[in-house]
Amino acid sequence: MTRFLAPLWAALLLAAPLAAEAQAPAPQARPPIQTTKVAGTDNVYVFRNGNYQSMFVVTEQGVIATDPIAYGKPTGGKDYLDEIRKVTDRPIKYVVYSHHHFDHIAGGKALKDDGATFVAHRRARQRLEQLADPNTVLPDVVVGDAGTTLRLGSTELVLSYHGLNHSDSTLVMRLPREKILFVVDTIPIGQVPGRGMIDFHPLEAEAFMKEVLAMDWERLIPGHPAPGDRLGTKKDVQDQLDLLQAASTTMQELARQGKCWEPAEKEFRLPAYESWPGYAAGLPFIARRYCGLWGRGT
Ligand SMILES: [Zn+2]
Repeated sequence: MTRFLAPLWAALLLAAPLAAEAQAPAPQARPPIQTTKVAGTDNVYVFRNGNYQSMFVVTEQGVIATDPIAYGKPTGGKDYLDEIRKVTDRPIKYVVYSHHHFDHIAGGKALKDDGATFVAHRRARQRLEQLADPNTVLPDVVVGDAGTTLRLGSTELVLSYHGLNHSDSTLVMRLPREKILFVVDTIPIGQVPGRGMIDFHPLEAEAFMKEVLAMDWERLIPGHPAPGDRLGTKKDVQDQLDLLQAASTTMQELARQGKCWEPAEKEFRLPAYESWPGYAAGLPFIARRYCGLWGRGT
């Protein structure tokens, strides 16, 4: 039997790359909503809804959830609650917002109705009060610039604030025991940044990444799935920092020749990153942001 199957196997292995090449880039079929336990842990989960991700942690005394990720998805908050309920019937004690952007935090009403306390950086609450989005729950509790640590059961979740980076309200969430980070939007994993550059502070973001690199952690859960749904490493953070620095240097030169906006935006390229996912879509956003910085000082 083995001898009979071996040539078939060989033929399939040979045929597979050719077929994949001919059909690329066929999207992988996968459910729109998915919950995955982080390997090597018994308490940390990634909830994915479409192209968005959120971390939740199950403790002896309840659940710490994070971004509801339900912008434009009327049932998204309930879907999140249902996914958590498949794992545990313990109460959802907290919902922690990564930052104030609606595409990550809209849709938390079902979690609020279930009794969760909503937590965010103080700037997030100020922004959300000004914007008054009808689909976004206002935080009940704010975290100051010094950060704080949430303790529930035997779990600690460190919330730290590092000033401006992507938005002015980003909290880094760190599980010291599990050596896991949840950081949204500032550090894309294995892909070129894009629309996130609309609310982005380039010089401060570089400092932010260096601070993240200096923290004690091993794996990073991003707010958008990385290629292959993998988690990020410190090398990914360093790669993203290198990309930003390359973008900054390239645009600085064009800007100082007086070429911002149009000529510089047309000329701007990052050849080393052409093969990265998101390159074509992200390049104009990166160019615009760095033209703003080096061409206008903004
Ligand atoms: Zn954002």
